[in-house]
Amino acid sequence: MKPAVRTDFDVLVVGGGMVGACFAAIAACDPELARLRIGLVDAGPPVAPPLDSTTDLRVSAISRASQRVLLAIGAWPLIPTAHRSAYSEMVVWDAAAKPFGAGSIRFSASESGEPELGHIIDNRRLVWSIYASERFRERVTVLRSSVSALELDEDAATATLSDGRRVSAALLVGADGASSATRSLAGIQARGWDYPQRAFVTHVRTEHAHDSTAWQRFLPHGPIAFLPLADGRSSIVWTTTREHAERLVNDPVESVALEIGRALDHALGAITIDAPRTSFPLALSHAEQYCRARFVLIGDAAHAVHPLAGQGVNLGFMDCAALAEILSTALASGGRVESLGELRVLRRYERWRKSENLLALGLIDGLNRLFSNSSDALGWVRRTGLALVNDSAFAKRALIGRAMGIAGEVPKLVKARARR
Ligand SMILES: Cc1cc2nc3c(=O)[nH]c(=O)nc-3n(C[C@H](O)[C@H](O)[C@H](O)COP(=O)(O)OP(=O)(O)OC[C@H]3O[C@@H](n4cnc5c(N)ncnc54)[C@H](O)[C@@H]3O)c2cc1C
Repeated sequence: MKPAVRTDFDVLVVGGGMVGACFAAIAACDPELARLRIGLVDAGPPVAPPLDSTTDLRVSAISRASQRVLLAIGAWPLIPTAHRSAYSEMVVWDAAAKPFGAGSIRFSASESGEPELGHIIDNRRLVWSIYASERFRERVTVLRSSVSALELDEDAATATLSDGRRVSAALLVGADGASSATRSLAGIQARGWDYPQRAFVTHVRTEHAHDSTAWQRFLPHGPIAFLPLADGRSSIVWTTTREHAERLVNDPVESVALEIGRALDHALGAITIDAPRTSFPLALSHAEQYCRARFVLIGDAAHAVHPLAGQGVNLGFMDCAALAEILSTALASGGRVESLGELRVLRRYERWRKSENLLALGLIDGLNRLFSNSSDALGWVRRTGLALVNDSAFAKRALIGRAMGIAGEVPKLVKARARR
């Protein structure tokens, strides 16, 4: 047997956003992986969020499956209850329909046997809770820098950091987001396109209570979503044309509030804007491969999706749990630490997650195309489709299961938490 090459780390995670930090924390908690030397590189690790009740503009709908992962790594209890807003209902309707009327669909946690459909959580607090979790603090070495070059050879991956340091590992995990530098440096192409839309984001107060319900209305240029926050406000994500998003950011606040109210067909009454306004570009991208020898991609570095179904980071958390499971199984069945970066091991993860992610990418992009246009024929298809799904308990359960991340090939970590 070839002698092992001594590397600085066994596993080096590049990118400490929600997904990279989550993978490092899962590895730090796993009985097999916890003995590894785990490093994480990020140029801007999180700062402690203020203790007051401010909610950052960037929030995510976190699925039940992701919640189980966050519970397993001990991060969930560190998110103050005032900052995790459970929602138990979701109402979705077409522009030409009415909420709760024909052409609308209503999902209820009670139909799924789960206490809630998910939680709305501030991204900044979510990342902070992972960094603050006990095992992460004990077992993950954080390097405050960014990766500027990468060498992959038979025995090790070696990253050059922007401060000149060179750091080697048996496996390098690329979690550096949609414009991943490590993906390009590893010679992996990503396919995809920019959407002709941007996501306008702000928080609003509404005349009527949000009722722990996520509201989404599909308009010809894209959906407007009202996500319930724990302080009674709603977080708005309005996907629209780039020009319109720019106007929503810059026009007088009172006229934009009126426009937001109309866009939701006044379902929650009068609107007051109660936060800064901004917008984000939107793109779909999917890496052609998820791995090379000694290198593997997770999260947005592997796949970025349109936010209309609130799935991006949830898919990333499932990548983390699946990759940790594959690596842990390889070690438990007698594999050496050096074998973790071997293609035959990493391809198991790629086969698993690529099929799940491609299915989600296709569904989400298809929904955006079907809903974001004003064709009369497609309008009829949409409303009929929504009515059919709404009337079919089976179709609804299948969709809810997917949205909650508890259907499909689910990692053991998610299944194990479900039994408790
Ligand atoms: C408007 C909007 C709403 C959304 N809503 C939802 C939602 O409700 N639910 C949901 O599941 N998803 C949602 N998403 C998607 C979600 O935000 C992303 O999927 C998620 O942020 C991806 O996390 P990540 O850790 O993979 O990447 P990122 O969040 O992009 O993190 C990448 C990290 O890598 C670091 N980094 C980058 N380059 C380097 C380098 N060279 N060296 C070292 N470090 C580096 C960065 O500093 C960063 O910390 C939404 C997205 C948008 C735009």
